[in-house]
Amino acid sequence: MKKAQDIMANEVVTANPEMSVAAAAKLMLAKDVGCLVVLQESKIKGIVTDRDLMACAIKQHNIQECSISNHMSSPVMTATPDVLLINLAHLMAAEQIKRVPITEEGELVGIVSFSDIAEDMDEQVAGMWSEWLELISVTKTSAQHRRGKRFKKKTSTQPHPEKRSESLIRS
Ligand SMILES: [Zn+2]
Repeated sequence: MKKAQDIMANEVVTANPEMSVAAAAKLMLAKDVGCLVVLQESKIKGIVTDRDLMACAIKQHNIQECSISNHMSSPVMTATPDVLLINLAHLMAAEQIKRVPITEEGELVGIVSFSDIAEDMDEQVAGMWSEWLELISVTKTSAQHRRGKRFKKKTSTQPHPEKRSESLIRS
């Protein structure tokens, strides 16, 4: 089974809590990311998403002056690199979060998003399916009515908070 370290993005875009919402929006655009991990003295203080920044504008704050610390989610749920993706997906579903920073001995080493996990699971399941189809076509070479049903993508996972991994910690 795959772990967080197998699919995590190693490059995490970070910002300090005092960064203005306007600057954070610019940074997200420049780096093509949907969130920033907010660090203070290399400790994770929060996570701020493009939606959070939008909320600032909608509330008619001054986005040049309002700092991201006013809009970040905190505390942040983190996980270790060796956590299984399935457990990470359950955590995200249970906590209704889409991104989990990955830390090793308290240091930020990566980030995993829910869509990364869903994509990876699709590939795995689709891979198994095509192997199975090949097996069938080998064993049933004389079959005239080969079914052409396509595999439907399954991206949702059921929340199982009770199955949460021991290695998941709240920082
Ligand atoms: Zn604001």
